[in-house]
Amino acid sequence: MMNTSKTRDPNFRSIALVAHDLKKDTMIEWARSHRSTLVEFDLYGTGTTGGRLAREVDLDITCLKSGPLGGDAQIGAMIAERRLDALFFFIDPLSAMPHDVDVKSLLRIATLYNTILAINEATASRIIAQFHHEV
Ligand code: PGA
Repeated sequence: MMNTSKTRDPNFRSIALVAHDLKKDTMIEWARSHRSTLVEFDLYGTGTTGGRLAREVDLDITCLKSGPLGGDAQIGAMIAERRLDALFFFIDPLSAMPHDVDVKSLLRIATLYNTILAINEATASRIIAQFHHEV
């Protein structure tokens, strides 16, 4: 039977991309350099991050609500429902967040469900590197 999934690993097909405001430029640059690999995945993003990735990196990405308006909670729900395989969440460690409880909740849910999780670009690059040979 033909494998119709985008990636060869049935357990690693979907990635959520989220970046706090001061990390959004980093996320855009990171996604640009890994675009040829990222297009192999089903991509989801919080509203502002996802919108920028669609516009500036030309990625086909499903945009959820903005993080502070429930987007982090939506991604947490996807993880709990086993609809998301990985979360690349570029966190700003120097700013206070109005939605700090949502951020903590998302990290807790991702940990609870043993989700592949990168909270900075170095780790995200290492994770995505395993797919380089597939493109
Ligand atoms: P945003 O949300 O992409 O809508 O800015 C990210 C966040 O702060 O969680």
